[in-house]
Amino acid sequence: MNIDIRPENTPPGLEGSGFFATSLDKVVGLARANSLWPLPFATSCCGIEFMATMASHYDLGRFGAERLSFSARQADLLMVMGTISKKMGPVLRQVYEQMAEPKWVLSMGACASSGGIFDTYSVLQGIDRIIPVDVYIPGCPPRPEQVLDGILKIQELAKNESLRRRHSAEYKEMQNAYGLE
Ligand code: SF4
Repeated sequence: MNIDIRPENTPPGLEGSGFFATSLDKVVGLARANSLWPLPFATSCCGIEFMATMASHYDLGRFGAERLSFSARQADLLMVMGTISKKMGPVLRQVYEQMAEPKWVLSMGACASSGGIFDTYSVLQGIDRIIPVDVYIPGCPPRPEQVLDGILKIQELAKNESLRRRHSAEYKEMQNAYGLE
């Protein structure tokens, strides 16, 4: 009896009887996408919604991202959730700078993405003013399903990213625009 045991997410490649060949960047991308280590930078209510996403009903662990990292040096996905005050801005930026490449940033909710309802002198009107953002999740607060959708989008980015992207001229240009080293 033939049993098809191929995983759902097999990367594109050549296959035949007893062999499968693909390129290194696709294997690396697959591994990165399915083993994200998020750093939850939660400052207010969106963080509560994230806790629900981590809990048993939504279970972020199904996507390989259940290992939260509270050390920036051991994280590759910065999840910013909540209102970021201007005083907090330099701290957030320092956390981002401490993360090693490759790294991705997910901005969860209206506050992190645009300041939300807090159009005041003390609130940063979007974290993309100080660090680059890969995926935005709209809502106040976003539902856990939206958070999962955001994670899936980050996975797509990680899966399809060229191994050379971080050394490209465009990437360096983006870093220069943010004054990052
Ligand atoms: S977007 Fe809404 S739920 Fe999220 S931190 Fe801001 S006020 Fe709270």
